[in-house]
Amino acid sequence: MAKRSDNTGRLWTEEGDLRTGPVATVALVGPFDRQYSYYIPDKLADRISLGQRVTILLGRKGRAVHGFCLSVDMRPWDNTLRPIEDVTDSQSFLTADLIELGRWIAEYYACPLGRALASLVPDSVRKQSGYVQTEIVRLSAPADQILAEHPRLGPKQRVLLQAISELGKPVESTHIMEKSGVSRAVLRSAILKGWLISERTRQPRPAPVFDRARDEPDFDLNVDQSAALEKTRSMIDSGAFCVALLFGVSGSGKTEVYVHAMRHALAAGRQVIMLVPEIALTTQLVHRLTSRFDRVAVVHSGLTGVERSLTWAAIRSGEKRVVIGTRSAVFAPCTNLGLIVVDEEQETSYKNLRAPRFHVRDVAIKRGQQLNIPVLLGSATPSIETWQNCKSLPHFTRIDLPHRVRNLPMPRVVVVDMNDEYQEKTGLRLLSQVTIRHLGESLERGEQAVLLMNRRGYANWLRCASCKLRINCPDCDAAMVLHAARNEMVCHHCGRRTAVPRVCPDPSCGGRLIGHGGGTQRVEERLARIFPDARIARADSDAMRNESTYRKLIAGFEAREIDCIVGTQMIAKGLDFPFVSFVGVIGADAIAVASDFRANERLFQLVTQVAGRAGRSRDAGLVVVQTSSPDASALRYAVRHDYVAFAKEELAIRQHTGMPPFSRMTRIVTADANEMRACDEAGAVVERSGTAIAKLELPHANAFGPEPCAVARVRGRYRYEVLLRTDTARSMKRLLDELRGAGIERCKAQSIMIDVDPVSFT
Ligand code: ADP
Ligand code: ZN
Repeated sequence: MAKRSDNTGRLWTEEGDLRTGPVATVALVGPFDRQYSYYIPDKLADRISLGQRVTILLGRKGRAVHGFCLSVDMRPWDNTLRPIEDVTDSQSFLTADLIELGRWIAEYYACPLGRALASLVPDSVRKQSGYVQTEIVRLSAPADQILAEHPRLGPKQRVLLQAISELGKPVESTHIMEKSGVSRAVLRSAILKGWLISERTRQPRPAPVFDRARDEPDFDLNVDQSAALEKTRSMIDSGAFCVALLFGVSGSGKTEVYVHAMRHALAAGRQVIMLVPEIALTTQLVHRLTSRFDRVAVVHSGLTGVERSLTWAAIRSGEKRVVIGTRSAVFAPCTNLGLIVVDEEQETSYKNLRAPRFHVRDVAIKRGQQLNIPVLLGSATPSIETWQNCKSLPHFTRIDLPHRVRNLPMPRVVVVDMNDEYQEKTGLRLLSQVTIRHLGESLERGEQAVLLMNRRGYANWLRCASCKLRINCPDCDAAMVLHAARNEMVCHHCGRRTAVPRVCPDPSCGGRLIGHGGGTQRVEERLARIFPDARIARADSDAMRNESTYRKLIAGFEAREIDCIVGTQMIAKGLDFPFVSFVGVIGADAIAVASDFRANERLFQLVTQVAGRAGRSRDAGLVVVQTSSPDASALRYAVRHDYVAFAKEELAIRQHTGMPPFSRMTRIVTADANEMRACDEAGAVVERSGTAIAKLELPHANAFGPEPCAVARVRGRYRYEVLLRTDTARSMKRLLDELRGAGIERCKAQSIMIDVDPVSFT
């Protein structure tokens, strides 16, 4: 009988040699849809648990690949089975219910299970770090006996042994060295001689602490807040899954309701998760929230791998009871979760930008459903999907906070038609007369102002005055943006930076270059010229490179060392400053991406959000919205602070056009350096989709495309998109399963992206 050796070096017979032992089912991290079995070698037998990350070797060359252990069974196996090479993490962070959630994400968002699970665990959990080594020493025999047997023992050794003897129990080596005043060398020699026995233990380091001094507000909840809290309390007490939308205008005191609802769950001995949008983390909100609880964990992308794994361990052990964080916090390994809060549920930053492209709000709802606990969503401008769910789904309810606290009025909103402004003066006007006048009055009164400009940089593009050539990124189908402060051109799609050209780069032309469109830098510059005494700060991702610069800005504004902030949408959210009386929206024009059916909704949300920064604690604020499309219905409703009417109209449009929430959508994008290939492969997706739709007999399902993406080339790759639309989520899942079964992911283009429930169409 032929013999051969497997890669562990053992010799087995080819057939009939079955062994029984532990075999793990593993989901590999990579483009593998199937799960595979591996035997567990003896050395790892007691180190592998459910959800554990492991390493296996793949293929003939033995490439190391990570995977997650999904189950372990005792079963017979033969030499065709390969072993698990090693365990990657010292601990599993995936509980059974998180694995379940991972399965749902993999299926719903059309992603291999291993990849989905990888997105659930902290990124860079390292093997050893995060632990403190301690050495414990104890006497090998009673001190008297040792001293008697070794009469010539040195004085320091005697001191050491006596000190340990007096303690009467094992002691940490550093502690006893300090106590008895002996050196490490003395201790080591006592161990070498066998008088002391040393044992090393590894203990996790403590997780970062975010608890702060208690900071309770001096007001009581108002009637609306109390009623809202009553409802959320009974949801928590009912011990059943449900979703409540806390629909409250900005400044209605939603945060207080969250805090009290979370405390209610904590009082029942449960853990809570509160999710906040990316930028909110660095702001006041989180700072204020952490002072309202004990045993708080804050989870965000800035944590180091070690901090993150320590935090994860502390959550898992129940030491941390409150988790506040961005996207990944939805996967916090709570074992006793009682409530999930999603603040600003409409935020697009809740959508994950890499596969699996999950939406955190929807994952939170799924987790709530799996655990049978309530989920509390909050917003002043809910997503149209959530609004419709409240109307149509039995387990969704709405809780309203219709008024601002302390009877403060909503700010007055004025729309300025920039087309008129263009006619008055020649050339581009960045700031209207109305804006300048009201801003001036606010500053005069010693109040503060916030100006929103939804583009960073100085000029949005440079164009040659004579030949009209636009300066584009060589790798992307997009203009380079002029950043005057650092005197460079930046591509906002791939990050390429170049020097600012002096004249038209076409040698046959050499004309003068003129800047078009404005960005935050230009607004800042204009303001400084008009209001030379005003203290102006700019808040965009160029100026705010890290958390601490952002925090400084907030602190400066709070201390009223800054009069006016000019910023991108990063300033539109969550900021709560009592002395802001003026808000200006510099360019409120819907971003015209043809396929983005949410453009109206975004415009309404943006204007409403930034307007909500005004007049939060004193008299009504004033909001000036500059636009070149003053008739946009989103603006008309935003002026009246009328979300309900806006949503009604928007839902009617969506229903008429068959867009979500009245249908489900998936966007598939192929990208390749060769334009033909990108296009052909997208075309093949359309064709296969047609076949699949016919085969499955899906009603009301379509595949649209291929079309070039709105940004048709990024980083040198041409991009083509296909839009799939079905009537229900179930049909979409069947369609995607069929397409993936037919292998659309193994296409010839350099990349293919599948985005279920897309929020971005660029
Ligand atoms: P929202 O999140 O709904 O925009 P916040 O929760 O930020 O509103 O509350 C707005 C402001 O009102 C905060 O400064 C908060 O401290 C204050 N506030 C909340 N509830 C009350 C209340 N019942 N009475 C007085 N002030 C309140
Ligand atoms: Zn580029």
